[in-house]
Amino acid sequence: MNDSENAYVLSEMSWVDAEEYFKKHDIALLPVGSTEQHGPQNPLGTDHLIAFALAKEVSKKCSVLCLPPVPFGVSAHHRHFPGTIFIRPAVFREYVLDIILALNFHGIKKVVIVNGHGGNLASLTEVASMCREKKIAFVVIFQWWDAIRGMFPVDEMGHAGSIETSVNLFLHEHLVKMERAKDEEVPKIPRGGFYFPSETRDLTKSGVMGISTKASRDKGEKAFYIAVKTLCRLVRLLKETPFDVLIEQGIRAIRL
Ligand SMILES: [Zn+2]
Repeated sequence: MNDSENAYVLSEMSWVDAEEYFKKHDIALLPVGSTEQHGPQNPLGTDHLIAFALAKEVSKKCSVLCLPPVPFGVSAHHRHFPGTIFIRPAVFREYVLDIILALNFHGIKKVVIVNGHGGNLASLTEVASMCREKKIAFVVIFQWWDAIRGMFPVDEMGHAGSIETSVNLFLHEHLVKMERAKDEEVPKIPRGGFYFPSETRDLTKSGVMGISTKASRDKGEKAFYIAVKTLCRLVRLLKETPFDVLIEQGIRAIRL
């Protein structure tokens, strides 16, 4: 993928550029991911690399500020695989909240968290709810795999599966070692209303959940651009909806 110039990436702007942006806009994208195992074929940075690529593309298309990514997340369940870095949920929540508070200090009132790692969702939702309750900011969380659900076979959608591997192939093919890709059937969780503290090692030996050998660059390109389109639509709606209306009406104010 051609990652050409992007005037809206905060880490590449000067404070003068940032000041200009904050004068005119009240919205920003915050990519959040993890550094955790993604099977033997994918880089440990998969989740934050994809989240940042998505956020950057949308920032370019919608002229919206994109922060550098948070590279670590709630990943303790993957810790038995070397290289996984895991942050305690309470620390992660506080860290993300501080980023939003800093943005808020500069006048940002709407934040879209582009989340690349499902394990972060519970913590991010808590932060978003708190920000709405205290009227700090209206925070929406976006997950790319939810935006493409139903478009690919379910058994290719798992952790480090074909679809996630495909997006890596599309974005940074040189980091994927396809000859190592594995398929692993995930054991069924027993029915009956039980919830287990599952660890990834209970479910998979290689770290792949489901089928990963059917990955392709084309699938990755398709998934990526569907996610970009969905996220752009959300950003445009948030841009045109006043902050007070978002705080008062929440989901009723956003007609997606
Ligand atoms: Zn992932």
